[in-house]
Amino acid sequence: MTKHIFITGGVVSSLGKGLTSAAIGMILERRGLSVAIQKLDPYINVDPGTMSPFQHGEVYVTDDGAETDLDLGHYERFTHAKLTQSANFTTGSIYQQVIGKERRGEYLGSTVQVIPHITDAIQAAVDAGATDGCDVEITEIGGTVGDIESLPFLEAIRQYALVHRREDCMFIHLTLLPYLRASAEMKTKPTQQSVGKLREIGIQPDILICRTEKAMEPEHKKKISLFCNVVEEAVIEERDVDFSIYEVPVNVRAEGLDELIAKRLDLPKAPDQDWSDWQAMLEVLRAPDQEIEIAVVGKYIELTDAYKSIYESLTHGGVANRTRVHVRKVAAESILEDGAEQALAGVHGLLVPGGFGERGIEGKVAAIRWAREEGLPFFGICLGMQCMTIEFARHVAGLEGAHSTEFEADTPHPVIHLMEAQQGVTDKGGTMRLGAYPCTLVKDTRTHAIYGTDSVSERHRHRFEFNNAYREQLVTAGLAPSGICDDLDLVEIVELSDRPFFLGVQFHPEFQSRPLAPHPLFRAFVAAAVQPQSVPAPTKEERAAR
Ligand code: GLN
Repeated sequence: MTKHIFITGGVVSSLGKGLTSAAIGMILERRGLSVAIQKLDPYINVDPGTMSPFQHGEVYVTDDGAETDLDLGHYERFTHAKLTQSANFTTGSIYQQVIGKERRGEYLGSTVQVIPHITDAIQAAVDAGATDGCDVEITEIGGTVGDIESLPFLEAIRQYALVHRREDCMFIHLTLLPYLRASAEMKTKPTQQSVGKLREIGIQPDILICRTEKAMEPEHKKKISLFCNVVEEAVIEERDVDFSIYEVPVNVRAEGLDELIAKRLDLPKAPDQDWSDWQAMLEVLRAPDQEIEIAVVGKYIELTDAYKSIYESLTHGGVANRTRVHVRKVAAESILEDGAEQALAGVHGLLVPGGFGERGIEGKVAAIRWAREEGLPFFGICLGMQCMTIEFARHVAGLEGAHSTEFEADTPHPVIHLMEAQQGVTDKGGTMRLGAYPCTLVKDTRTHAIYGTDSVSERHRHRFEFNNAYREQLVTAGLAPSGICDDLDLVEIVELSDRPFFLGVQFHPEFQSRPLAPHPLFRAFVAAAVQPQSVPAPTKEERAAR
């Protein structure tokens, strides 16, 4: 029998509800329980795949090819929950289901309404997320209590709790205690009002997690308890972390969150727990042996969330090398104005992430050229791999004007072109090559040595691919395909084998990196950046010859 934790947010958005949900998942797993996590998002897009990263941040892709909210990245980084299509529903996807049924005549004779049809579909979505008979399912409700949009979701979880046993469902509300510097006071009123809104809907939170900048005093807990109808010990503090988001599970556990949940849900007594692996990882984050700087040259660098998993994976790769990785966020377009030399001066490595559309492409290509000529470690992801191929084709293989047909339909050398399966696809939602595919690694390549295995499974999200018509020419010039998708004979990884790390991948390794299990490519990239002397720099003559 699966137990349910519903997590809502109040006062403001961006409180770290996703992180807190993931942290709760982790502390429950460490009690020996199996956990599922899902997010219900109140917007009307069927999935975030059609939104700009500026609006929504990164689109996180699961093994089964769901394009999802970036909070699912936190869930996978903190827990072992298996995330699938049922781990993220939106208002759009719920309505799509209900309207589909209506058209098929499944409600024949009825008026289709928000209550009960939409709320029933939301409850079915909650059930669908409870995979493999898990012990506990955590359901995070996106948005902020008080929004018009989230009302059907709140109504649905209220109903859900009504028809389940009391010890099988609980509500946790995450809220903000703003600190007013002028009066040197922490304010509880927004929390009171937000909980008031929830109670109007019929939801009484069992636990309040208060996000704060400063430590709470006992009087704050007392006041919140009284006004929000939550027992004092269930009002807990989640203060801003000191140095890493990976502190959150440890901090909320120290506040007694896991025992509170265990008591409320009548969970079995926890076994002795060993957190030494997590503590050791935190210790490296707090006091690393060395620090390096990696340039990330992208199109959406103003928004940290746009490359969330990449930044986290760099941190993981850093932990594996006992190194703090600072990221220099460089707007791709600025490379053309400032010159790569100035924009990238002093960095230890270059990473070009995925993306769509032409803006910034030439800046990325210029940055990659500079990295290649200077012997800088380079990591290209998806569009970054495509840009590496374009740069190599133009400046090493002598294919002048080489490009991707995504950006120049009539380029003389389409070294990157639309995948065959994508020809004729006109719908934009959910139609890319999505999810996990196997990739065979080519023996005697850097890539093979780094992974230390013959075949891997990695997640994809793209429409364009390496054009095999240019394979021989590019290989002759020195670009080595080091990973192949056998079914499609598709080049998934390219490398410059004479460099410790100059490599591009068509997939998204950042979706499979964990703090305790850094992705091999991120580990190796950081290792190459830490020891620049191990990266053979080309001689002056070699450079002149290019
Ligand atoms: N725009 C490129 C494509 O569709 C790259 C996609 C990506 O970087 N995720 O193939």
